[in-house]
Amino acid sequence: MLTAIGDVMRRCYDKGWITTRDGNISLRKRGSQTLYITPSGWRKTIIHPEHVVKVRFGFDGALDVPRDSSPSGELEMHRLLQLGNSSTRAVVHVHPTHIVAAVYAGWDLQKIASEFPEVSRYTRVGPTVPILPATSPELARGTASAMLDSDGRFAFDVVGQANHGVCSVAGDPWSAYEHIERLDHICEIVLRSGVRPNS
Ligand SMILES: [Zn+2]
Repeated sequence: MLTAIGDVMRRCYDKGWITTRDGNISLRKRGSQTLYITPSGWRKTIIHPEHVVKVRFGFDGALDVPRDSSPSGELEMHRLLQLGNSSTRAVVHVHPTHIVAAVYAGWDLQKIASEFPEVSRYTRVGPTVPILPATSPELARGTASAMLDSDGRFAFDVVGQANHGVCSVAGDPWSAYEHIERLDHICEIVLRSGVRPNS
């Protein structure tokens, strides 16, 4: 599954959803205290398993980052979404063009998703996170509170992050990718329709 991290990054780059050094993916296997996460600043088109950074969860949920490693700047967002380890989980954060454009234009992603069965049947779209600085603790907390219910369980598979990107969660990187792809596809359709939000 570590190989899939690089493969998904390359696909996202090919789709135009990230520029060369954008985006990040983490993976935590069921029962494991190890979090695998993409490195900061690295060219995402050449990520292979040996480039993936390993950090460990402590008992208090804090991460022990080795001094010589440089995990993604969005580490805190991944930490909050990877706290439970009762099932294997992949978290993908990228900047899908049509989703970001639809939010920028004023569309409500949950409303769009409810109108297209290709999304609503397979992917639960959460409330969009407001504009918050990239790599900030506020973005991490805002994304986690948009995706999780009050018991810390995942209420949604993907949420938009205004003027920025998306965060998606699934059992493996490719499944998380598919949630994003479905939502990006219908956002492209809505944008191309020429219909305006609230019209
Ligand atoms: Zn980002």
